[in-house]
Amino acid sequence: MRNPVHIFPALLLCLLPSITSAQEKGPADDLWDLYQQGRFEDVVVQGRVLLATDKETAQVNLAVGRSLVHLEKFEDAFAYLTKAAQMDPQKTWVYAWAEVYLGLTHWKLGDDERASQAFILGRDCAATKNATRNAETYLLRLGLSEFFVDWTHFETEHFSFRFSGRLNNFDRVAFARRYEGAYADIAQWFGGGPEEKIRFLLWSSQEEADEGGIGQLGFSKPEIFLVHARIQQTVGHEMTHVISYHALNPTVRNGLINEGIAVYMDQTNRDQMEKARSLREAGEAEAIMVSIPAMWEDWSLAPSEYSYPLAGAFVSMLIDKGGKDKFLEFFKDQSFGHAQVVYGSDLAGWIEGFEKKLYR
Ligand SMILES: [Zn+2]
Repeated sequence: MRNPVHIFPALLLCLLPSITSAQEKGPADDLWDLYQQGRFEDVVVQGRVLLATDKETAQVNLAVGRSLVHLEKFEDAFAYLTKAAQMDPQKTWVYAWAEVYLGLTHWKLGDDERASQAFILGRDCAATKNATRNAETYLLRLGLSEFFVDWTHFETEHFSFRFSGRLNNFDRVAFARRYEGAYADIAQWFGGGPEEKIRFLLWSSQEEADEGGIGQLGFSKPEIFLVHARIQQTVGHEMTHVISYHALNPTVRNGLINEGIAVYMDQTNRDQMEKARSLREAGEAEAIMVSIPAMWEDWSLAPSEYSYPLAGAFVSMLIDKGGKDKFLEFFKDQSFGHAQVVYGSDLAGWIEGFEKKLYR
């Protein structure tokens, strides 16, 4: 079971400055202290006491509503957040955050249209920089801003696809069938998958993504079941990030292993060792001769066009040599130290053999 505090990690961190800048002392102050400590149950209990007396303010409603969202009690949060927004006609930071959290609530309850409306209200009141930025981020990441009006939805058993309106002559059904097929294989391999559908946004090109402001494609946010990808990307890579995260809840992740498994599972069956070697031989990665333990510690040591196939080849080797069960055990803590524990004295020899093959 995941800790609810971590569901909206970016959001939680961004909240703090706006709270500490809250003006005069009010009945909600003690609630915010508890909130910042992540004591959401206490905020709800004490907030409800205040609301039952004559201490009702917009802030108290907001503190209770937000805490309920972090506790994933979305149905319950709705009334408090709505009240918080209504009780702040000046549309200060209280209103802005109430709308952002209403957006989250609607999204988690599956109502994209109302989520979009709430995030837009939270954004457009421009009451506080953090709330505005959070609203913008969710609108963009979830594909709910004005930019996405001509995108189409397509729901399947495990995916909620959003396709760019610029994808012409595009067979959505065949596409979805391929993705569902890959999902079945990958989830079976990991022995599980996410409890929610993967929200998969498919862009026509990197240029379109630049225009939309989403940044470099593709990427996944497993904790919120989200993927953004180019249509040309491999079928399996990004979904592997989401599936493996939910199947095994890894507590320590790093590039070599986490990207390596996504490359290994990308469903292309490419020989990644061959690819990494040919990059070196073509001179593109000539200067790169980093050791595997070094890469393990610092994934940024090599350029990505080289480090990805290398990681894929390395993970493939680990699975071949040590077997799938050991790999799944190791995957939960992907550190070098944990690999040494799981694989024992074999590991050093495997790494040496791998590097020899790669750098011969
Ligand atoms: Zn990846």
